[in-house]
Amino acid sequence: MGFTSLALSAPILKAVQEQGYDTPSPIQAKAIPAILEGQDVMAAAQTGTGKTAGFTLPILERLSNGPRVKNNHVRALILTPTRELAAQVHENVHNYSRYLNLNSAVVFGGVKINPQMVKLSRGVDVLVATPGRLMDLYNQNAVKFSQLEVLVLDEADRMLDMGFIRDIRKILDLLPKNRQNLLFSATFSNEIRELAKGLVNNPVEISVSTANSTATTIEQFIYPADKRQKAPMLVKLIKDGDWRQVLVFSRTKHGANRLAFYLNNEGITAAPIHGNKSQGARTKALADFKSGQVRVLVATDIAARGIDIPQLPQVVNFEIPHVSEDYVHRIGRTGRAGEVGKAISLVCADEAAELFGIERLIQTVLPRFELEGYKPTNALPESVLDTRPIKAKKPKKPKKPRTGHADGQRSGDNARGHKPAGKNKRHFGPRNDDAKKPQGDKPKGTGQSRANANAGSGNSGNSANRTRSNKPNATGKPQQNRKPRPANANRG
Ligand code: AMP
Repeated sequence: MGFTSLALSAPILKAVQEQGYDTPSPIQAKAIPAILEGQDVMAAAQTGTGKTAGFTLPILERLSNGPRVKNNHVRALILTPTRELAAQVHENVHNYSRYLNLNSAVVFGGVKINPQMVKLSRGVDVLVATPGRLMDLYNQNAVKFSQLEVLVLDEADRMLDMGFIRDIRKILDLLPKNRQNLLFSATFSNEIRELAKGLVNNPVEISVSTANSTATTIEQFIYPADKRQKAPMLVKLIKDGDWRQVLVFSRTKHGANRLAFYLNNEGITAAPIHGNKSQGARTKALADFKSGQVRVLVATDIAARGIDIPQLPQVVNFEIPHVSEDYVHRIGRTGRAGEVGKAISLVCADEAAELFGIERLIQTVLPRFELEGYKPTNALPESVLDTRPIKAKKPKKPKKPRTGHADGQRSGDNARGHKPAGKNKRHFGPRNDDAKKPQGDKPKGTGQSRANANAGSGNSGNSANRTRSNKPNATGKPQQNRKPRPANANRG
């Protein structure tokens, strides 16, 4: 079956053809007709399945037949968890709509808000947004939703993991009731089903293969390793295998920095990508990696989520993840679109419990190999496959919002420095350096709240953390002695 059988108009088909796609992927073949019929859709699909075109093409078809967008209005809204994914989805929208009289924009935190406000002022047919920045823009009257026809929640599971549920619920309350809803998620946990109840109406449910079932195209194995030997082992693997493009997962941001530094010293070009990096640095690292200027991208789980690098040949788990499901997401970065990929994990004795958890989840004992010259002195215990079924997790209680998102973005709440809505309305006005300050009317509010706002308009949860640690304690004095941070404090 070709794209021409999908009832898409000539300008869209032309753009698709220019991308070099001949046949719709399974998700596209199922989602496009349902969305064109105007139905709500709930789809289980990961990045790499072609899901972006699966929702974008029919949305463009629908919008190309409707009314013109009014100033500051939006006709289709695509919410994504990370800036990288937002940029990537927007690039797709831009490419697929190049022969249509429709415009699109992308908005996310960590960059200036003013250019985004200017772009929105003329109205946008398709807006791709991360939830925190969208709420900021809404609170500044830069975006209106009364003309909205379609909502997409992309990677909904990751949005919940990243603590966006409050923002999402707020955004849903602002949208017109009569709209088409499309929900895409790699997994369908109880939490996602709970969210879906209040979102989609009588949806068409679509499921396509996830990384779990792509095992035939992903070769997975482990090298038992001593912790201190992992970095030289990685160098040996890259050099001996002459790997030109490898994504390496680190559990922590500092670990990612250290490893990239080490690799560069060993003559292997490497760049770290994580939530403490500015948006500019993240975009550059990804672009350099895609263009081949950088051979190794060292990423944390959250930063890597949604990164689209077609035909990535190697993925290395420098440390295996604490959360077994993250392993499945990680290895989903390789072996996509029918390509054979390698997912290699360097596992030390301390990580045995995590390894057994992953093997239980995927119901496979990962093959082990010894890397020549690197036999570990601290032996990794043998695996015994646990075949007991894994109980479904209980839905989590909503968490208290934190001052910074794991990847450095802020939610609308956080942007207001946790001030309750009714208590200090002034706080809703322009509040960072990017926003225009009213003439002759100094913004009120404390230095603390401004510090919070600036932390968010900058790059990271790191500055937000600093702000929090300087808060006066109960005695009114700034807190000097901080408790040691938990081992996973740098995650993301
Ligand atoms: P996505 O899952 O949307 O992130 O897409 C993954 C990759 O598949 C992207 O690089 C797309 O450009 C590519 N892609 C999407 N649809 C097709 C198709 N029908 N044929 C070939 N490649 C595709």
